[in-house]
Amino acid sequence: MKAQSKLWFTPGPLTTSASVKEAMLRDAGSRDPEFIAAVGEIRSRLLLLACAEAGYEAVPMQGSGTFGIESVIGSAMARDGKLLVLINGAYGRRMAQIAQVLGIETIQISVPEDQPLTADFARSALTANPNVSHVGVVHCETTTGILNPVREIGEIVRSFGCRYIVDAMSSFGGIPLSVPDCSIDFLVSSANKCIQGVPGFSFAIMRRDALRECEGRVRSLSLDLHAQWKGLESDGQFRFTPPTHALLAFRQALAELDAEGGVAGRSARYAENHRALMQGMTRLGFEAYLAPELQGPIITAFRYPGHPAFVFSRFYELLSDRGFAIYPGKLTHADCFRIGTIGHIFPADIDALVDAIDDVLGRMGIGRQH
Ligand SMILES: *Cc1c(COP(=O)(O)O)cnc(C)c1O
Repeated sequence: MKAQSKLWFTPGPLTTSASVKEAMLRDAGSRDPEFIAAVGEIRSRLLLLACAEAGYEAVPMQGSGTFGIESVIGSAMARDGKLLVLINGAYGRRMAQIAQVLGIETIQISVPEDQPLTADFARSALTANPNVSHVGVVHCETTTGILNPVREIGEIVRSFGCRYIVDAMSSFGGIPLSVPDCSIDFLVSSANKCIQGVPGFSFAIMRRDALRECEGRVRSLSLDLHAQWKGLESDGQFRFTPPTHALLAFRQALAELDAEGGVAGRSARYAENHRALMQGMTRLGFEAYLAPELQGPIITAFRYPGHPAFVFSRFYELLSDRGFAIYPGKLTHADCFRIGTIGHIFPADIDALVDAIDDVLGRMGIGRQH
C-alpha cells in the first residue's frame, strides 16, 4: 500500500496522525515492564478524561467497540437482571441484540431515528416496566449523529435505583462528558474514535462498586470484565494477548489529545469541522437528515439528492479516486449517506472534501441543486 492514505470522513476507524502511526513501529512484549507501565498510564488518563478519579476504574478490553459493550452487558447483568434499552438508532438496537443473544431479559423501547431520547421518555419507560435493573442508552447515535441527553436520562435512571450503561463509543474524548455528573455506572468507548487511535480494543469506565458487583456474573470467559480488572490490578497485565501496537498508538493519541487542549480543544475543532461541512453541503444543495438543533458534531447524515443520476456507489468511488472516503447510510426509513467530522482532519480538509463533492456531482451530470 502507498504511504499516502485517503482522508477518512468516517466515525472510525478514521484518519490518524503520522505520529500515532509511527508509535506502532516497534514491537512490545505484553509482559514487559515498559509495556505494563504504558497500560497503567492509559488507564489513569482515561479516568481523567472521564472526570472520574476516586471510586472509578478504567479497564481496556480486546476487540472492537461491540466486544466492549458485550463485555459490560455480559459481566454486569445478574442472572435475574432485566435490561431496558432506550433506542433511536442501529447501535441502540445492537445493545438490545447483544443482551438477547446472552439470554438476558430485555425490554426495548424506541423513538423514531430523527427524534432524541428524553428524560420524560426514560421516566415513563421505567414507570411502565418495574423491576428493571439496568438501563442502556447510546450517547451519540452514530446512525444519524444525534446526541441523546445522557445526563438528564441518568438522573432518572438513578432515581429509579437502576444501573446505567452508556455507549459513548463515538463521542468519548470528542464531546465533554463527566461520568460522575451523568450518573453513569458503565461507559464504553473504543480506541479508534474520538481519541484518534487505531482499532484493536475498547475500554469501559466504571464505578468501582458497580464493577465489584460483576464478580461471578459473566457469561463469557474472554469478555469477563471483572476478571480483566482483577488481572490488571494484580500484575498490570491483560489476561490474554493484548493488542500491543494499538495500545502504543493509543498512548501517543492520548498525548496528542492533551496537546490539543484536551476534550475542550478537540470538541472545538470538531465543531468547526462540522460548521464547515454544513456550510459547504448546504451551498451544494444537500439536506441534512436531522433538524439542526438535534445534530451533533461527530457525524452527519445527508439525504441523497433527488436526481435520477445519483448512485451512491458511483459517488463514493469518484470521491475515493480523489482521496476522500465518506460513509454509507444506515437509516431504516431514509436514503442517506454520512460524513464524519472526527479524526485527524481539519476545516481545510472539509473544504477540500466539499470541493471534491462539487466536482464529482458535475462528473455525474447532477450539478448543484440550487
Ligand atoms: C462504532 C460504534 C460502536 C462499535 O462498533 P465496532 O464496529 O464494534 O467498533 C458501538 N456503538 C456506537 C455508537 C458506535 O459508533
